[in-house]
Amino acid sequence: MEEKIDLKNMTHADLVAYLATLGQPAFRARQLLKWIYQQHVTDFAAMTNVSKTLREELSIRCRISTLTPLTVQYSQDGTSKYLFQLEDGATIEAVRIPMETDKATLCISTQTGCAMGCAFCMTATSGLWRNLSAAEIVNQVCAVLDDGPIGNIVMMGMGEPLHNLANVVAALNILYLDDGLGYGARRVTLSTCGLVPEMLELKKRIKVNLAVSLNAADDQVRSRLMPINKRYPLAELIPACVEYSRETKQRITFEYILIKGVNDSLSMAKKLVKLLHPVRCKVNLIAFNEHQGTDFAAPDDDTVRAFQSYLLDRGMVATLRAGKGRDIDAACGQLKGRMDERTECAIEG
Ligand code: SF4
Repeated sequence: MEEKIDLKNMTHADLVAYLATLGQPAFRARQLLKWIYQQHVTDFAAMTNVSKTLREELSIRCRISTLTPLTVQYSQDGTSKYLFQLEDGATIEAVRIPMETDKATLCISTQTGCAMGCAFCMTATSGLWRNLSAAEIVNQVCAVLDDGPIGNIVMMGMGEPLHNLANVVAALNILYLDDGLGYGARRVTLSTCGLVPEMLELKKRIKVNLAVSLNAADDQVRSRLMPINKRYPLAELIPACVEYSRETKQRITFEYILIKGVNDSLSMAKKLVKLLHPVRCKVNLIAFNEHQGTDFAAPDDDTVRAFQSYLLDRGMVATLRAGKGRDIDAACGQLKGRMDERTECAIEG
C-alpha cells in the first residue's frame, strides 16, 4: 500500500496545491490547518466542517503525525527536558525553559545527531544520523504546547539547522501560519555554527532571528572549538553577519560559551570587541555546562562577570544567560547521551 502523506509536513502553499489535485478549493487548506494546529485533531473524522467524502478520501491518503515524549525530566528551576522517539526509533530532545512571564521558551532540535563536530558539544559525539522532517520539527512544538504556552522558539537543540535548510524553512513556514500555530518571525530564533553560504541563502528564503554560535574571537581558538571555522573562518563569517543584519534590519545574537582557560580571558574579550565592532549585534554569554566525556570546565563566576563587564564597559550589549536545568543535563544532547548510556540503545549506535 502507498505510504500515507503526512499533512504536518505541508506549508499552506503545499496544502493548497495538494488539495487542488483532489479537486478542492484553496479555502479548505485553512480549514484543515485550523483543525490540525488549533484544535489538535489527528482524526479526519472529527473535522466536522469538511464534507464526509473529503474526510474519507483524506483518511485513505493522508495522516496527521504527532510526537509523544518518551521521558520528561523536570529541573528544580522549572526547566523541563523532553526526549522524543521518532518513528524510525531515533531520539531527539526539546527543552522548555520557563520565562519571567507566564510563557516559556522552547528549544527544539532539527537533526538527529550533528555533523559539525563542535568540541564542547555532547551531540557532536554521535555524529549525524539524519535530518528531521518539517513535521518532526513542528511536532516538538505541538507536543510541548500541551504543557502550557510557549512564547518563543529557538532552534538551538540537536543539529545544525542550516545543514537541513529545506526542511527547516518549511518548518518555519508552518510555525508562522496564521491559521496554525501563529508564531511570528520575531518569536523564532535560528542558531547556526556559521555555515556562511546557507546563512545568506536563508535570508533570501524566510525571515527569522539569527543567532551565531561564536565562542572565540580568533581563528586559532575557534577552529579548535568548532571545525566549521576552518571552512568558513572569521574573515568570511563576520562580513556575512554584517550583510545578514543590514539586509534583514536585524540585530544578530552571538552566542559565546565561556570555557575555563580556553576562551574566557580578558585578552579574548578585547579581541571580541574589535571583531564585532562592524556588526549590529548582542552577545549572549553562557558559562560552559560541564558534562561527562569532556575535558572542558566551567569558568568561575568572577571570570564570567569580568568578561561581561569588559564588553559592557565598551558599549556592547552583553547578556549572561543563566545555566538552566543543570540538574537535568539540559545542555544540547546531554539527556539523549544519558538515555543511550542507560539503555545501551542500539538505535542510534
Ligand atoms: S553545538 Fe550545535 S552545531 Fe555544534 S556540534 Fe553541537 S549541535 Fe552541532
